[in-house]
Amino acid sequence: NADVVPQAPEDPLFGLMAAYRKDTDSKKVDLGIGAYRDDNAKPWVLPVVKAADDLLRKDPDLNHEYLPIGGLADFNFASQKLILGKDSAAIQDKRVISLQTISGTGAVHLGSAFISRFYNPQSAEAKAIYCSSPTWANHNQIITNVHLPVKTYPYFSKETKGLDFDGMIKAIESAAEGSVILLHACAHNPTGVDPTRDQWTKIAHVMRQKRHFPFFDCAYQGFASGSLSTDAWAINYFVDQGFELMIAQSYAKNFGLYGERAGCFHFVAAPSANAQDEVARVGSQLAILQRSEISNPPAYGARIASMVLNDDKLFSQWEEDLRTMSGRIISMRKALKSKLDELETPGKWDHITEQIGMFSFTGLNEQQVGKLREKFHVYMTKNGRISMAGLNTKNVEYFAKALDSVVRE
Ligand code: PMP
Repeated sequence: NADVVPQAPEDPLFGLMAAYRKDTDSKKVDLGIGAYRDDNAKPWVLPVVKAADDLLRKDPDLNHEYLPIGGLADFNFASQKLILGKDSAAIQDKRVISLQTISGTGAVHLGSAFISRFYNPQSAEAKAIYCSSPTWANHNQIITNVHLPVKTYPYFSKETKGLDFDGMIKAIESAAEGSVILLHACAHNPTGVDPTRDQWTKIAHVMRQKRHFPFFDCAYQGFASGSLSTDAWAINYFVDQGFELMIAQSYAKNFGLYGERAGCFHFVAAPSANAQDEVARVGSQLAILQRSEISNPPAYGARIASMVLNDDKLFSQWEEDLRTMSGRIISMRKALKSKLDELETPGKWDHITEQIGMFSFTGLNEQQVGKLREKFHVYMTKNGRISMAGLNTKNVEYFAKALDSVVRE
């Protein structure tokens, strides 16, 4: 009987969104939202998505049939090329298996479910997924749901507001051999702090020594630097080093296809004579997992993305749209930093322009976050993370002054 079901807490992020919607103050600012907003604080349908949508709707053969279990083949293949590069040796060797998923969340889930079911490391201790501390909050729930322990490696240094590289490396070094390490491919959520290329090289070196299993979560390709290949650099470095690895790829942010749930999961086998056979077997099991959980993925978002990814002209238009989004975010970082400089706000704020991607970890504490909300109608997550996309030319000064005020209190 339902009496035994305890009340669950509200999802913090969705709770924040609801509180923002209820607030009737005209000055309110939403910095919690994990979605791009234009300079008028409005959702932005990418012009390239609109163009693809128009083309799609003109297609007389369009129907609403089921996709195959693994999703739209053209989409999957284009997704491989996007993340691994057109000339990827792994693709040429046919050692990549890809399934379309329910956006990035579904891809993280499918990879975690696969680990839970089939990963068989030498020591039971290694059958766990290591996440950065902090990480995207949903990682913990997704991994726990498939009955795997979540372990953590240090990531963010409160002192420098940058990467705690030594802490991270030490934790990865001391993890049981063959542990699964979840890594954010770029634009780390929530901190906006990424390892440098040199640091990635060192991370790969330790992971190779410890025979760890990399699981990349890539939710912001093209969104961080504005260049698709730059943002996939870390993944490709690991692939080139011959790792067997998994990738969760989301098209929510970079296509603005949030609610359409377009994403892809990739398993890349290490180069070997058995690699093709391996991916065939892995793929057959992934298909069973997928069938039992979602039967087959949703079509609309994947059709839009596939159309853009497979057409040179639309693809360049997409790159332009990505630069519009990443460019506006970078300009908001600069604007916020210069307003804080002008106000001579106590503290160091260089991290605002040093961090990349959609989010910034401001370093504000929970109390300050609470004051920003009560006094200034500014909404952000309790950990002090702000979504740069919520800032625009009309509210950045207001926010800088509000921040200045709570810091001085
Ligand atoms: N991973 C990370 C790190 C994210 O920030 C997000 C988006 N918030 C996702 C995965 C997945 O998002 P979605 O399911 O909307 O693609």
